[in-house]
Amino acid sequence: MTDIDSFCKFFVDELSNKCFFGFDECLNMEVKPNTVHRAVVEHLVRQAVYQRMGKSVPSTGQSPNPLVVNVSARHCHLTQEAVESLFGKNHQLTPMKWLYQDGQFAAKETVTLVGPRSRVISNLRILGPCRTLNQVELAYTDAIALGFDIPLRQSGKIEGTPGGMLMGPEGFFEMSEGIIRAERHVHMNPEDAAFYNVSAGDRMKLKTGGPCAVTFDEMLVRVDNSFKLEVHIDTDEGNSVNLKPDTPCELVK
Ligand SMILES: [Zn+2]
Repeated sequence: MTDIDSFCKFFVDELSNKCFFGFDECLNMEVKPNTVHRAVVEHLVRQAVYQRMGKSVPSTGQSPNPLVVNVSARHCHLTQEAVESLFGKNHQLTPMKWLYQDGQFAAKETVTLVGPRSRVISNLRILGPCRTLNQVELAYTDAIALGFDIPLRQSGKIEGTPGGMLMGPEGFFEMSEGIIRAERHVHMNPEDAAFYNVSAGDRMKLKTGGPCAVTFDEMLVRVDNSFKLEVHIDTDEGNSVNLKPDTPCELVK
């Protein structure tokens, strides 16, 4: 927490009119659901540095919210019914790590996914809270290892997709469908959508820098009042550009 505290102090001092959480709140971050993200800090520091130099902030720095790019490793979303089949009656998922989107968490619980040739992926993380459908999101590399041929789908659009068997400590759950590679996408709230001049369902590009620089096309725009600006790519995509905390990323229309 030492670094974060000093950063927070920095932009409370430098950006008193712009910071959206104060020093005292930072001290309490560890017990809060969402800790301050590196990109949030960088975004504010960058704005402060430009202001101090008396220079105009470049367009990406003027965005209302910082751009966070996160890699989604393979995971599943489950209904409460599926959770109870796998972990026992009335079992509730236990949050292990809170994600950047408010209220979303990686659960302590994991399951084993059995593929068609009896190959398995163990320790498949469940993301909570429970949803109204069961969905497993894999990278293509995971699917190849399992012997699946999986379609590229928007999250939630699982009609006609392959199913599979999940194993938990207290039982099995058979999914009739729902195993997909999730389309790369960006979460944003209406304020972000207005800044980037896009609407829900539009496509954008994510430009990554560094020695493995790549531009990802076909980045699906998802807009909701509850969303924080965040790009989700999978492990194949993240590894292909060697995505690291200091990798430059830019969202363009
Ligand atoms: Zn997402």
